[in-house]
Amino acid sequence: MKRLFAVIALISLLILAGCGAVAEDVPLVPMDPAPVAGDEVSGGEETTPLPVHVHEFSDATCVVPKTCSVCGKTEGAVVSHNYQNGTCSVCGDEQQAPAVEHMVWIPKSGNKYHSSSSCSNMKNPSQVTEEDAIARNYTPCSKCYG
Ligand SMILES: [Zn+2]
Ligand SMILES: [Zn+2]
Ligand SMILES: [Zn+2]
Repeated sequence: MKRLFAVIALISLLILAGCGAVAEDVPLVPMDPAPVAGDEVSGGEETTPLPVHVHEFSDATCVVPKTCSVCGKTEGAVVSHNYQNGTCSVCGDEQQAPAVEHMVWIPKSGNKYHSSSSCSNMKNPSQVTEEDAIARNYTPCSKCYG
């Protein structure tokens, strides 16, 4: 009997051990499914037609601003003339010559400026711009300035 008891004891020990092995109930967290590369990202084709047309603007010129060739809508402002050899190749406008400084002669004493250095027997007159002469309170000579 002693041996039978030993066997029973052994079996009991195994059962206890088995019961003692607590299976940890690990909650199974399902992995989020990897985002599938959508076909909608492919692009290329325009699926939604635009309710209004896309303006097709021509380049602005000195005559007209940017103008839509479809509806005639304009945008912005005209641009400067496209001068070539003094004439605008677009509208034919003639370019104004750059203002040339008008030089006059002023005497050391006196208050008249002259177009001729020999006028009024000036001695050692100075040549200045007309603008400068006016700024210095010189007035045009009645002899050499009509
Ligand atoms: Zn348009
Ligand atoms: Zn022009
Ligand atoms: Zn004069």
